[in-house]
Amino acid sequence: MGIRKNQSSLTAPEKAAFVAAVKTLKANGSYDTFVAQHRAAFMASPNDPAHRGPAFLPWHREYLRRFELALQQINPSVSIPYWDWTVDRTAGASLWASDFMGGDGTGASRRVTTGPFAFSTGEWALTVRDPGDTTTFLTRAFGAMGALPTQQGVSGALNVVPYDSAPWNSNSSTNTSFRNRLEVVIHNPGHMWVGGSMMAMSSPNDPVFWLHHCNIDRLWAEWQRENPTAIYLPPSDTPNVVAGHGRDDPMPPWDNEASPPTPRSVLDHRALGYTYDDEVPTPGIVSLTIGAPATSASIGQAGEIDGYSFAVTTPGSHVIETQGSTDVVTTLYGPNDMAAVITEDDDSGPGANSRIERNLSAGTYYVRVRHYSGSSVGNYSISVNGSATQPGIPTIQVNGPAVQDTIAAANERDRYTFTVTNPGTHTIETAGSTDCFLTLFGPGNPTTFIAQDDDSGPGTNSRIALNLAPGVYYVQVRHYSPTGTGPYSISVRDWSRIPRYSG
Ligand code: ZN
Ligand code: ZN
Repeated sequence: MGIRKNQSSLTAPEKAAFVAAVKTLKANGSYDTFVAQHRAAFMASPNDPAHRGPAFLPWHREYLRRFELALQQINPSVSIPYWDWTVDRTAGASLWASDFMGGDGTGASRRVTTGPFAFSTGEWALTVRDPGDTTTFLTRAFGAMGALPTQQGVSGALNVVPYDSAPWNSNSSTNTSFRNRLEVVIHNPGHMWVGGSMMAMSSPNDPVFWLHHCNIDRLWAEWQRENPTAIYLPPSDTPNVVAGHGRDDPMPPWDNEASPPTPRSVLDHRALGYTYDDEVPTPGIVSLTIGAPATSASIGQAGEIDGYSFAVTTPGSHVIETQGSTDVVTTLYGPNDMAAVITEDDDSGPGANSRIERNLSAGTYYVRVRHYSGSSVGNYSISVNGSATQPGIPTIQVNGPAVQDTIAAANERDRYTFTVTNPGTHTIETAGSTDCFLTLFGPGNPTTFIAQDDDSGPGTNSRIALNLAPGVYYVQVRHYSPTGTGPYSISVRDWSRIPRYSG
């Protein structure tokens, strides 16, 4: 898994490897293809699939990942670094040194004359330009168009939830649209502070474009971590949303591919194959068995999120709960979709434990567990239980044939279930030479005691005759003696339903 690092922490060889890979793509023409894709997105306005709409973040995530994969074709060790402008905010930052991005533009033309992307190197001529622009050299004008985002500005943006809001474009309120807040208040100023080529629709002509957008993508990933239940909005087919911006819309210009990327398909950046150097690694997904003893685990590092999955085969009520003294928050996703939030719970269980009870259909479900406090750690355990009818309990048909069975071992308990559809007197009885003992439970609950009997039937057989309401009942058969064994049969009769000769 590639790790995207803060550019300020790159070693000289790491910077050289990034620059060399970028220049190789420039030399073979694929760099300019990327520039053209970005320009084409803008020129499609008002149907721009990449800007001024919800897909601004997913589109650039996909775009950067494709660029990164192209770089890794040249040198597998290269990842896109990010530029944290809240820290590196002056022309004196190492980012702009001549061994990396080169410096500010100079003179009236604002031409960049230092570093590997200066026109004079003979390796960085701008060939894909905005309509009417004839400038073939890289230009920059630091600070001429405004200031870089601050830490305070970034924090304010990260606090905005939901992801986006109507009218799903550049008019969405920056107080109710995280996407528009990040795009307009944080992202646009980055382009403007650098100025020059970064102001154009062809802005990827300046390689710092990738480092700037890498930081935007990192902030989106951070927001996703802090708001695990905030889903991507809007869903596809929302009225007045530009094509490509709905959750399951194929994103142009990749929409004609066999399995085109959608906003949903890029939500988990780790699944795309990269992480950021400031992320806490997430352990793999642990599978849970319904009804099994609780699984022990821990939030070992601040911010850690543990992942689990379980498979529901018998639909019905299920309880997912944590145990222990650690205040964890549990989020349930599914079925068969790691991104579809069902519910989240903090403290519904005993103490500070979480407890989710839900009627679940068949399918695979996912659970994420984090500490309530992003800075705390601790041990916990987690379990899933289903109250649905346990599989493997044989059914006795009312008025059907007797069921033949055997107490084969000491202390064996055989269980059966039967369903009463017509209220009235029902007789549950055993037959044979084994001294059986019957216990009846229900209705609907296998642990609600109704009656028990040892020898009310012929010989040492047991018999329970009771007026039963409609419902599901449970019968337990054991030998009267804890060490006794032997064959028997068991039946249930509804005498009102059995035809009799009259007269
Ligand atoms: Zn863009
Ligand atoms: Zn941009």
